[in-house]
Amino acid sequence: MSIVTRFAPSPTGYLHLGHACSALIAWRRARAAGGRFLLRIEDIDPARCRPEFARAIEEDLAWLGLDWDGPVRVQSAHLPEYRAVLQALEARGLLYPCFCTRADIQREILEAAAAPHAPDGSAMYPGTCRHLSGAERVRRIDAGERYALRLDMARALACVTGPLTFEEEGEGAIPCAPERFGDVVLARKDAPASYHLCVTHDDAVQGVTLVTRGEDLKPATDLHRLLQALMGFPPPRYAHHPLLTDAMGRRLAKRDQAMTLRSLREQGATPAEIQRRGWLDITP
Ligand code: GLU
Repeated sequence: MSIVTRFAPSPTGYLHLGHACSALIAWRRARAAGGRFLLRIEDIDPARCRPEFARAIEEDLAWLGLDWDGPVRVQSAHLPEYRAVLQALEARGLLYPCFCTRADIQREILEAAAAPHAPDGSAMYPGTCRHLSGAERVRRIDAGERYALRLDMARALACVTGPLTFEEEGEGAIPCAPERFGDVVLARKDAPASYHLCVTHDDAVQGVTLVTRGEDLKPATDLHRLLQALMGFPPPRYAHHPLLTDAMGRRLAKRDQAMTLRSLREQGATPAEIQRRGWLDITP
């Protein structure tokens, strides 16, 4: 089977050296095997994403010497597809509307004796709206209250037969525990679909066979594996790589303006230097 990899940045800022590493890993894996390398712009969050950053991503990658196969997939151009996936899950009774505000959830959690946390550090949703009656849901929706859609984790797990695992290169089958995320949001009040839903759907429709990405996203793979199982998508293999860090050992972030490809380029760095540096720094 031919290998298909992808680089899937969110256009919330300029690409930095850490992104360059991630992109290079995916690109090299595909090119070394005569496979395909895809570029996807994950701009599903209208509050954080900007079109000028999406344009800059393409420019910076091209400057770095990377090429991609086929057209760039831009998530905001595929909203009806995500809506259809949400409707299919809803029709199976696996989603419910959640009217809670952040403050509501915080209050409930403070009142609870012990509040469990999801792997991403956020407090787990206490399930308030899961218990609303059908009539109450209809009344609040008809009254114009805004709502998110949450996955009913217990029901979702009941749909899956057998143990869930994902295939991590060099480690083999890793057991998944998506229940650690609780009832996750799959469509936010202010964004049409969540990262977890879109990434799972897009990797499947784009035929991605190997997902290479930073190890910060490894815990989320448990959830992605559950969504793949629910939607009948073939699971890709995964290769999570260490994150590039600064001299203090902190992972690179938007605050590190000096490490963006743009400013490295202004400082006189060449694509060849960045390719060498980016690759070596995170190769174990
Ligand atoms: N869009 C995500 C990010 O920029 C990456 C998604 C992925 O590689 O699965 O962090």
